[in-house]
Amino acid sequence: MSTFKAPKGTYDLIPPDSAKFLAVREAIAAPLRNSGYGYIETPGFENVELFARGVGESTDIVTKEMYAFETKGGDSLALRPEGTASVLRAALEANLHKLGNLPVKLWYSGSYYRYERPQKGRYRHFSQVGAEAIGAEDPALDAELIILADQAYRSLGLSDFRILLNSLGDKECRPVYRAALQDFLRGLDIDEDTRRRAEINPLRVLDDKRESVQKQLGDAPLLRDYLCDACKAYHEEVRELITAAGVSFEDDPKLVRGLDYYTRTTFEFVHDGLGSQSAVGGGGRYDGLSEMIGGPALPSVGWALGVDRTVLALEAEGVELELPSTTSVFAVPLGEEARRVLFTKVTELRKVGIAADFSYGAKGLKGAMKNANRSGARYTIVAGERDLAEGVVQLKDMESGEQSAIGVNEIVAELESRLG
Ligand code: AMP
Repeated sequence: MSTFKAPKGTYDLIPPDSAKFLAVREAIAAPLRNSGYGYIETPGFENVELFARGVGESTDIVTKEMYAFETKGGDSLALRPEGTASVLRAALEANLHKLGNLPVKLWYSGSYYRYERPQKGRYRHFSQVGAEAIGAEDPALDAELIILADQAYRSLGLSDFRILLNSLGDKECRPVYRAALQDFLRGLDIDEDTRRRAEINPLRVLDDKRESVQKQLGDAPLLRDYLCDACKAYHEEVRELITAAGVSFEDDPKLVRGLDYYTRTTFEFVHDGLGSQSAVGGGGRYDGLSEMIGGPALPSVGWALGVDRTVLALEAEGVELELPSTTSVFAVPLGEEARRVLFTKVTELRKVGIAADFSYGAKGLKGAMKNANRSGARYTIVAGERDLAEGVVQLKDMESGEQSAIGVNEIVAELESRLG
């Protein structure tokens, strides 16, 4: 072991488990690719101001959890704590909203950083796949994203998750509600911190997980009762479209989420097998964000699904992904000439798309066969001097144990046909 360890709150993805992460990312991306979303990649860090303005000055993410630093050149940067602000920044910078049809639909996959208290399912470095649909106000778009996330989870074999849905209103009705909620919160017995939060961002108090706070919120006014007619109609249509798609959800009038930019539709995916870090994904509409970061009005909607927690959810449900075996054929040469011949064959197999590996290093037959076993290969090809003198190799089916001699020049065709 080296003297170094992965930093606190992080972990390494290593084989074989890392294959699961790739498969999860792929499964989340597949429905997006299939629905007009183009891939976008942005830097791992941005100007700190982007997140302060975009995510919200008073949010935990910005006040406590950001990895912010000054460069030697004097720039104030932060490792990205989330994806939406960066993606919108990039879309505006490239004028994507002027170039083609709206909405601009984008998906992304990458690492995110938050200085949080680490625990199971909560890390300081984590991985998300996200989607953003920029520049259209249409309930069908909100519904599309919820349906695609549902499809992604189901394609992985998950079923023990729930979709929580709420509307946060818009700039017309939310301020009215905000004032009413503030009035209510001022009458409660809460600590200083919470009182301050109630003044800056009262909706966030609804999200407080502490029992002592939740107990007092029973009679809190609900946004649902304050929605203006336009927001009400919009939300109703989102609900109808999701329902028509056969996707079930629960109305959660207290769902507010931890970022300030949300308007109208907000949703969270929670998995019931994960304990306290149960949110596997979340998102919503952010009609005002573009203007908050200096762009034109561009009503938009998006989500981000956590890859780490999705993998934990698979484990919690006991779902075994059907991962293609990494190696189909393993070559075991006995002697120098066999090394040359089999190495060439391995290269040929790889060229036709068969996953093949080779016994490297000077190993005896026993050690080499152990490697072949561990590789998970369905077939091994073994060749010694006597085989090569006869122009054959031994092809062994590792499942049945059957072994047969086969001509050196027929290896590729034979394995192609056997592996279908
Ligand atoms: P958020 O941007 O906070 O809504 O996060 C979206 C999703 O990212 C969450 O539902 C989680 O699955 C995942 N996520 C957020 N923060 C963390 C973290 N610290 N560790 C692991 N996953 C996270």
